[in-house]
Amino acid sequence: METSLAATVRAWIDEAQRVVVLTGAGISTDSGIPDFRGPQGLWTRNPLAEKMSNIHYYLADPEVRKLSWQNRLSSPAWNATPNPGHLALVELEQRGKLHALITQNIDELHQIAGNSPELVIEVHGTMRRVMCWDCGMRAPMQRALERVRGGEEDPKCRDCGGILKSDTISFGQQLVPEVIDRAMRAAGEGDLFLSVGTSLQVYPVAGAVDIARSVGARIVIVNAQPTPFDDVADAVLDGSISEVLPAILGSASRS
Ligand SMILES: [Zn+2]
Repeated sequence: METSLAATVRAWIDEAQRVVVLTGAGISTDSGIPDFRGPQGLWTRNPLAEKMSNIHYYLADPEVRKLSWQNRLSSPAWNATPNPGHLALVELEQRGKLHALITQNIDELHQIAGNSPELVIEVHGTMRRVMCWDCGMRAPMQRALERVRGGEEDPKCRDCGGILKSDTISFGQQLVPEVIDRAMRAAGEGDLFLSVGTSLQVYPVAGAVDIARSVGARIVIVNAQPTPFDDVADAVLDGSISEVLPAILGSASRS
């Protein structure tokens, strides 16, 4: 990371009043949660994992569901804790500057770190809840996992007998329009837009950058790999997220 650039961004953050943050898998890799799509990603290494993430295979094939439940049981996310990158975003909120925290992550590490749930917009849902595909019932994931541990290979909804899945957006599944609308609205209300750990290659979420630009917000991108928006960003930082975020978001008096 170039120190002078970080200092410049830090000054912009100091000036900003309404920072809108978008986070992707990159912020959670330092917490031990693998990036599914990255070069070292789970899907790159295991095509079956991709099948389990596809709603059509999941609904059609009980074997895919059984494997998915075993996968959920052993997810590294259950033991993951927030890293300094997450904590820096909590500090940003404590400074009164965080307008919205849009996340593509399903791990809830932002809320666990201490960001207000009202500010977190989970565009891909959360793995800490299950939902019934048939009746829409929602419940804590851990309760369903208890049933799997107890021997149920593919636990069904207790209300209607329907198929249970994690309350996340699988491949082939539509995003929730209300949630996306809220994220895009928030993107247009900030004076600085900070994109962290996402490749910005998937719409509609990547469109948040266009919306932020259209209202004149400064665009700051923190990501290990290049993104399609690097050319139009005001600053691009490619160091370790858990080092870059504390450096640019902490209050000046702290370092
Ligand atoms: Zn149901």
